[in-house]
Amino acid sequence: MATSTTLQSYLAGRWQTGGDPTATLINPTTEESLATASSSGLDLAEAVRHARDVGGPALRALTLPERGKIVDAMSQAIHAHREELIELGIANAGNTRSDAKFDIDGATATLSAYAEWAAECPESTFLSDGEGLQLGRSPRFHGQHIWVPRHGVAVHINAFNFPAWGMMEKIGSSLLAGVPVIEKPGTPTALMAERIAHIVVDAGIVPEGGFSFLCGSAGDLLDHLGGQDGVAFTGSSGTGQVLRRHAAFVERSARLNVEADSLNATVLGPDIDSDAEAFDAFIRDHAREITQKTGQKCTATRRVFVPEAMVDEVCEALAAALDAVKVGDPSERDVRMGPLTNARQLEDVQAGIGRLAEHAEIVTGGPDRTTSKGYFLAATLLRARDANDDVFHADEVFGPVASVLPYDGEAKTAAQLVARGGGGLVASVYSDDRRFPIDAALELAPYSGRIYLGSSRIADHGTGPGIVLPAMVHGGPGRAGGGEELGGLRGLQFWMQRTAIQGFKSIVDPGFGQARA
Ligand code: NAP
Repeated sequence: MATSTTLQSYLAGRWQTGGDPTATLINPTTEESLATASSSGLDLAEAVRHARDVGGPALRALTLPERGKIVDAMSQAIHAHREELIELGIANAGNTRSDAKFDIDGATATLSAYAEWAAECPESTFLSDGEGLQLGRSPRFHGQHIWVPRHGVAVHINAFNFPAWGMMEKIGSSLLAGVPVIEKPGTPTALMAERIAHIVVDAGIVPEGGFSFLCGSAGDLLDHLGGQDGVAFTGSSGTGQVLRRHAAFVERSARLNVEADSLNATVLGPDIDSDAEAFDAFIRDHAREITQKTGQKCTATRRVFVPEAMVDEVCEALAAALDAVKVGDPSERDVRMGPLTNARQLEDVQAGIGRLAEHAEIVTGGPDRTTSKGYFLAATLLRARDANDDVFHADEVFGPVASVLPYDGEAKTAAQLVARGGGGLVASVYSDDRRFPIDAALELAPYSGRIYLGSSRIADHGTGPGIVLPAMVHGGPGRAGGGEELGGLRGLQFWMQRTAIQGFKSIVDPGFGQARA
């Protein structure tokens, strides 16, 4: 692999390269530099104008099924380069083959799902929202809500951990809505994202201006956004807070969707003992959640709530499952967990383990590097002395780290402890009882974007809690940012305007009521 690649941006319909200062992308296994990225000096005002004025009209002129064909072609073009992209994930993100496939296949599967839903949509450039309504005493005065594409751009700012999936989960819904996209990947792993951008542009499947790509920092991009534009941001809650204060949102009412940190939790029901199939699923699912992508997954489990009487057994079984995960050079096929993405991530995770360890016993793993080269740590499990300690509910340690916390076996207590995390992307409950999961889910729901109910009956059928499915919403309240993405055609709504049309039924109904998805 070249060591001095300069990554490019695709803006205003042409490939461009920023000037100094540059960011350096590295291979976290060898610590060698792979590429540089910079957005300095790029004309982002022109980029926004081009997307809005050229890409917007072109996409809005297409019907939803026509837009779906673009999304489908995008999925196929990326899939055709799967092997090459896997290699980039291994080199630049420290992904194992399996982690890289998870990212790339997640991207193409999400696009395909959106393409399939689009194929079933009416041949229309907008959508009707629900049934029409009689508004007056006679049926003549009639109302209908519709969804139309906004006349702006969809800016997607992504985190470093899913360079493929993160980008594509936002593109599917935006393009289908009829809104041009400007992609801004997390810089540390932008190598794969930039390659995908080249694949998309080379395939010539998106109309001119419909797809733009900004590599390097966001620069003054947000300064050029107004009331028809939107930003879907995924990243840390700290950056989310900075964005929320930006004049684009505060003064000009651009839309902002924030997907941020999450102290995802799992609860083992009091009915589950170590003989239950659900117990094996619980251990298997969480060993995977803690180690997949080296724990750098927004939906990874951070807090494991276990009835007091089962804490010893869970610690023993989960530690054994984590110890069995081979850590090392992710290009080796038997390796199951690679390094953290860069030195900053490693230092953050080491510091996080240190903070947790002041209030817990380390069951396995720990903060020490396992090699002198590369950003490797062992999967780490801690056992809390007191589940009420703030440290377990305050700080997302974005690596292969989780804590086991005892609770009294009551659904309400578990839910109150989970809620201490301030709002999360996903919570899971493992139980074969008929009542416990329902009681727990109803208590957990206000604090969770998604709830996964694991049980012996779905031990071999469910995905586990960490997989984001395009048919179900992704996002969470509070600390998790308060945003929402995906969820089938619901995902389009953020990029569209819902407008109420009122008038003579013979005009309103045939004109606006026939485009129901
Ligand atoms: P980050 O440092 O907050 O960066 C996220 C993105 O924001 C990057 O593209 C970054 O660009 C950009 N950015 C930073 N400052 C900005 C500013 N002032 N204006 C505009 N853009 C700005 O997060 P990260 O380290 O990449 O990702 C890890 C975090 O993401 C974790 O906390 C994780 O929980 C969260 N995450 C959440 C989800 C979810 O769905 N909720 C999914 C994945 C990750 P540069 O890279 O160029 O700095």
